[in-house]
Amino acid sequence: MTASGEGPTVSGSANPSQGGPNAVPLPEAFAPYRWAATVEEVAARQGLDPVEVLKFDQNTPPFPGVAQIPLAESFATLNGYPSGLYRELREAAAGYLNAGSGADVGWEQIVVGAGADDLIMLCARTYLAPGRSASIFPRTYPLYRISTLLNGAEPVVDVAGVSLIWRCNPENPTGEVTSAADLVDLARRHPDAAVVVDEAYIEFGGESVVPWLDECPNLIVLRTMSKAFGYAALRVGYAVAAPATAAVLEARRAPAPIAAPAARIAAAALRDPRTDVVSEIEERERVRAALVAAGFDAPPAAGNFVWVRSDADPGAALEEQGIIVRRFPDGIRITLRRPSENDILLRALGAVPGPVQGREATVVRTSTETALRITLGLEGSGRAHVRTGIGFLDHLLTLLAFHAAFDLECIAGGDLDVDEHHTVEDVLAALGGALQQALGTREGVARYGFAVVPMDEARATAAIDLVRRAHAEIALAFTVERVGGLVVSLLSHALERFAMEAGCTVHVESSGADDHHIAEAAFKALGQALRQAVAPGDGGIRSTKGLA
Ligand code: PMP
Repeated sequence: MTASGEGPTVSGSANPSQGGPNAVPLPEAFAPYRWAATVEEVAARQGLDPVEVLKFDQNTPPFPGVAQIPLAESFATLNGYPSGLYRELREAAAGYLNAGSGADVGWEQIVVGAGADDLIMLCARTYLAPGRSASIFPRTYPLYRISTLLNGAEPVVDVAGVSLIWRCNPENPTGEVTSAADLVDLARRHPDAAVVVDEAYIEFGGESVVPWLDECPNLIVLRTMSKAFGYAALRVGYAVAAPATAAVLEARRAPAPIAAPAARIAAAALRDPRTDVVSEIEERERVRAALVAAGFDAPPAAGNFVWVRSDADPGAALEEQGIIVRRFPDGIRITLRRPSENDILLRALGAVPGPVQGREATVVRTSTETALRITLGLEGSGRAHVRTGIGFLDHLLTLLAFHAAFDLECIAGGDLDVDEHHTVEDVLAALGGALQQALGTREGVARYGFAVVPMDEARATAAIDLVRRAHAEIALAFTVERVGGLVVSLLSHALERFAMEAGCTVHVESSGADDHHIAEAAFKALGQALRQAVAPGDGGIRSTKGLA
């Protein structure tokens, strides 16, 4: 098999990384970092539409972290450098590490970087050079090997006489845990080596060595905002070590590695962590149990991913179905996504998914005009990731999800060059389909929802009845043809399709002087009404005619 995974990919042929005339030569065994195949590559290779392709390879959470601070100030000062001290971020990181851990880390013990990757590079250039060696497990996160080779040092497995020991806990890709006691013992037995413990996934399981930093000045812990916090795009990570060790690293780091807005968002999140770790761990165990029941060798894994041992390359068959995982010669690593998306992967592997806690559905639809994928979680917190190619529609759906407290991911690609008609209609129809699937039997729901939402001069009302009687009364009193590039008359028809596919009664009226407000108020009101209707009712849906 071709390992498109993170494992070191050694090529025997001429190495492109040797570079131009004056580049420092690299050993033959050097291979640059490789990402898994992209959505576009897999879609082209397998003859699929990009929206039919699901990525389970990045070890990032399905929903983005949300900025917990107003950002206007950061963006109003883009001409200035961030404070190279990063005191706010370092204080927040120290506070986060100390909370409930018994550690007493000071802010000056934190060294910030552009992701844990940057700090791996920093550790390598601090402790490695030609003639030195670093201990690395044969299969682990590939950047330890890459940074070791880039600094002219030799990667070895053994720990005797090395300058740096790389350890990842929990391990990537297997999710295996090493006890903190064993890592501390390793550091004590090798006081002349820097022992770098990469705790990128520690929020998902395993025990941190942070409380032992004072005792072990050769211990360096790496953390990231990319995993549990969902901020991989921001590129924020930090190292923590005993004060003297942190000072050594601090002296060698780049002057301002993190963008000011990224540093502010990360600091706010570290001060008040809001993650989905608990539900992701539950989901990991649900997925693993289904795999084990189907006969797969899926050992306990402590990250936000599951490891499946296999020499048969199940990743190849998955890719044919538009499912991207990290592939290794002896197994695949599956990053957890939303439960209904994980169920698609489980079924593709022939496993039977167990019951899911929250009500949720994933709908994938392709027609000659549009291709789209929607994941809708009813027990959400109002987070949305919407990309339809029509900015104003994205905005309206984001409002709807927020006011309904649904989690929504919606990716659509359509014949927008022709007109947006199909996309608007198909997206709302598929959203209705996702709602109807997520609702399941509808037993126990409140059934009715009603909301009046004013927006300045505009005023919208929405009323919902979830008993299975598909009916729509939509009256949006628009005065112009287009708002934000969207032909607004399409919205009424699209909301009718939503009601038909959701199989419920939907009334929405909205009027005012500003068409932007008319549309926004309508979607907010619909969201508010949905939130009430899908909530648990008192003893189940009540209808004189039963559930049908
Ligand atoms: N360490 C490990 C073990 C990882 O798996 C990753 C990302 N895949 C990183 C570090 C890089 O994290 P960051 O996004 O903070 O650079």
